[in-house]
Parts: sequence; structure tokens; C-alpha cells
Amino acid sequence: MTSTISTLPQSCSTEQAITWELLIELEPRLLDLYQEARSVRDDRSKPWFCANAVWYGHHGFEGLRPRLVDLVGYRRRDDGSDPRLATSLAYDIAYRTIYNVLPDCRNCSCVDVAAIIEARRAMRRRAGRRIAAR
Ligand SMILES: [Zn+2]
Repeated sequence: MTSTISTLPQSCSTEQAITWELLIELEPRLLDLYQEARSVRDDRSKPWFCANAVWYGHHGFEGLRPRLVDLVGYRRRDDGSDPRLATSLAYDIAYRTIYNVLPDCRNCSCVDVAAIIEARRAMRRRAGRRIAAR
């Protein structure tokens, strides 16, 4: 089987070549992290769920992101692995792909903050219309 990696020249370090598929081939522990994130459920019998608590690791959660930074991005140790794993693009792709499969926040302080920001925006829009109507 011809893989994407073997068809690339050894010296290839262009960030354009980085995809999620490539990353999990280079670092299979990323796929473990992804599957772990996908298995996270919002337990509706509990009063709240916070994706960011699961992600960053607070309120008793171990945290997925602290483990992600060991695998991709500039904090990855130089262990002779493909240098593309240590790029910020690799980090961004892995971050988005894994974070996005977590359930949405429910009744947590993130939701409150988002609601406050939205309310303030709406207030500013209304204030803008009043000024424009004068
Ligand atoms: Zn939250």
C-alpha cells in the first residue's frame, strides 16, 4: 500500500501537506484522543456539562488538551518524529478536529459568558439603531 507519507520527499516540511489524516498516520495517539473525545457523553441526569472542563481539565476532569500538547505543536518533544507534528498548523488541525467532537456545553459558566457577550452585542446594536434614527 502506498501511503501519503512515503510519496512525500523526506525533506518535505511544507505546512500545506498537513492534514488530519496525515497527522493520525504520523502520531496514532491522536486518534486515541479523538476517539476518547467522541466517547464523552453529556450526562443529562447531571445539572450541567462543560466541554471546556473536559478539554482543559478542571472540575475533576483529567483534560484532553494537556495530552494533546505532548503530541502536536511546538511543545512536542523532538524525538526524531516527523517535524510536521511540531508545527502550529498540526496543533490547530488536531485541536479543532478533537475539540469539535465533544458535546456542547450545557448550563455551565461558558454558556453564561457567551450569553452575556450576546446580550451586550444586542444592546449595542439597539443603541446603534437609536442613534441612527435621530
Ligand atoms: Zn462550558
